[in-house]
Amino acid sequence: MLGSRDDLTEDILKSSKKEPKLIFQEKAKCPRCGSLSLVIKEYIYSVPYFGEILLSQGECERCGYKYRDVRILNATDPKKIIINVNGEEELRYLLVKSATSAILIKEKGYKMLPGPASMGFITTVEGILLRFLEAAHVACRGRELEPGCKDNIEWLKRAIDGHEKFTLIICDFDGTSSVKGKNVLETSIDSECEELRGESLQYLYGR
Ligand SMILES: [Zn+2]
Repeated sequence: MLGSRDDLTEDILKSSKKEPKLIFQEKAKCPRCGSLSLVIKEYIYSVPYFGEILLSQGECERCGYKYRDVRILNATDPKKIIINVNGEEELRYLLVKSATSAILIKEKGYKMLPGPASMGFITTVEGILLRFLEAAHVACRGRELEPGCKDNIEWLKRAIDGHEKFTLIICDFDGTSSVKGKNVLETSIDSECEELRGESLQYLYGR
């Protein structure tokens, strides 16, 4: 997936003017195979648009398990980021989505909840839609013509082409996500975000 249109992480990190600084390295227990062979590294990158970014990555030397998180280094207070998407301009907004934040497309109820397999990444609003479209294709495999699937896939395609207006919400629970663009509002975490947090916890610990 690296380098594809829904993930600009590598492109943005590569545009760093300074060499990345390795600030942490350790071997830890791998969550998949349980052996003490997960190499964790943390780097600080200085990149355009966002300033300093913390990249955490882990790779297991034994089973190949990998994770990655990307966060802005100077965390803000927890916040709700609201993007009113009217068309192509907002689709190009760049965002850092850290592993712990949740995403909601309000009008459609599409959600990306943080969980054990969550990664952090840098993308655009369009990139978020592409991820939802990919998820819809996977969920709808073999049922593409059923009304629910068809409507969602068609809506996402129109939105990607800039023909739908919608509200993209990022619940940034630890203040490590960021969006660059004009039509962006930031408020404090509210009940809508708390509901998403509740759903993520149910997902983690069962009902
Ligand atoms: Zn492993």
